[in-house]
Amino acid sequence: MKKWVVLLLLAVLIGNAYMQRHREDKSGGLAKTDEQSTAVDWEKGASDGDSVGDGDGNGNGDWRTIRLTDAQTYAGSLILVNSAHPVREDGVLDDIVALAEQPELTFGYGLLEADTRLSASVAERFRDMVGAAAADGVTHFRISSGYRDQAEQRRMYEQKGADYALPPGRSEHNTGLSLDVGSTLGEMGGSPEGKWLIRHAAEHGFILRYPKDKTEVTGIQYEPWHFRYVGLPHSLIMAENNLALEEYTAYLRKKGGIRTDAGGERYEIQVVAVDGRATVRVPADAKVELSGDNQGGVIVTSRLNE
Ligand SMILES: [Zn+2]
Repeated sequence: MKKWVVLLLLAVLIGNAYMQRHREDKSGGLAKTDEQSTAVDWEKGASDGDSVGDGDGNGNGDWRTIRLTDAQTYAGSLILVNSAHPVREDGVLDDIVALAEQPELTFGYGLLEADTRLSASVAERFRDMVGAAAADGVTHFRISSGYRDQAEQRRMYEQKGADYALPPGRSEHNTGLSLDVGSTLGEMGGSPEGKWLIRHAAEHGFILRYPKDKTEVTGIQYEPWHFRYVGLPHSLIMAENNLALEEYTAYLRKKGGIRTDAGGERYEIQVVAVDGRATVRVPADAKVELSGDNQGGVIVTSRLNE
């Protein structure tokens, strides 16, 4: 509960920060569009004429405008994929590789099946995380499942049934973002590997997607082996506030935007509803990452230089 209070306070601070900026913008004559008291620019249906990546036409460079389209709502590391939100074609990562053919990506862990596939970028992060675990003496990781295409998912669904498998397109394994991790020492939940991941996965951009205390939110039984890449700072914020992905995307949507510190960096996270087209303004010098939420919005994450 305390953490929610902190988040609420943050939201108030964000509002104040924006009001402050609003005033500064007015006094400096920098702002072109009307500022709002929240972090969200609800600029739906903006014209095609908005430039991408060059401020507000004032030459100052304090802000830049990013154009967003529908397609972006379906793709990215924060897409919610579950029985109500199937993955779209755009949501499948385009760097799926057969891990056994990528020795530089499989250092430090084993594969249960030789034909395991995964997004190369996610595998790279997983390899680095496993490296960090090895430094703590935890070394018995094994991937038991990675990317599954929709035909494979369909076969699994037909073989295992609805109680044990999700229909094609409804499984995170169909995106390339998720993987099942086991321990060669025994059952994952009780193993050093499982325990280490519970403690440290969020530091590396991963979340335990189906925790024991969130079965009612996720609709999925506790799965101590299923990890999902969402990226930083989101994994840290979710862990800190004990939010499942369903809850986190709903929370961001409700707030419109937050500013928060995570992992020693300061971030502004905005959610923009995209109905056809939209634009969002971000600080010109921020490093920005976009991800759809697979619910009609784009989550815009700006790492601020403050
Ligand atoms: Zn899984």
